[in-house]
Amino acid sequence: MMNLFLSLLMSLTLVTTAASGVGGNLRNYQCSKCGTVVRSTASPSSLNCRAGGSHWWRNLGEVGEENYCCSKCGTVLESRYSPSSTGCPAGNSHWWRHLGHKGDVAYQCKKCGVTVYSKYTPSSTGCPQGNSHHWTKLGK
Ligand SMILES: [Zn+2]
Ligand SMILES: [Zn+2]
Ligand SMILES: [Zn+2]
Repeated sequence: MMNLFLSLLMSLTLVTTAASGVGGNLRNYQCSKCGTVVRSTASPSSLNCRAGGSHWWRNLGEVGEENYCCSKCGTVLESRYSPSSTGCPAGNSHWWRHLGHKGDVAYQCKKCGVTVYSKYTPSSTGCPQGNSHHWTKLGK
């Protein structure tokens, strides 16, 4: 009986946390060592980076409705505005390209393997594998 009550309480807490994240300033954080991207309202835990030692989190800015791809490391972000250029895992600064507005249709580049959810065919500029992305529509 006690266990049931506790698990109910825990799931309630989880729901509340998730709901408050939507209204708050959800940000994209990326570790400049291993390249992992995490959406969070505060700096994530730095424990156990898979590239060794601690994660080095960089705040790349608020999560939003625009797709951006770095033409150096291939990271894709849904961001409100052009993300911060600091801490590209491929070295020095990110080189963000605006791919267009976020949507429900999946597109994948057959050259670099990046997948984005877009309303229309994403912009082809700045493929990390050189020159232009080669988009294939994977969704409906
Ligand atoms: Zn890391
Ligand atoms: Zn980058
Ligand atoms: Zn590409």
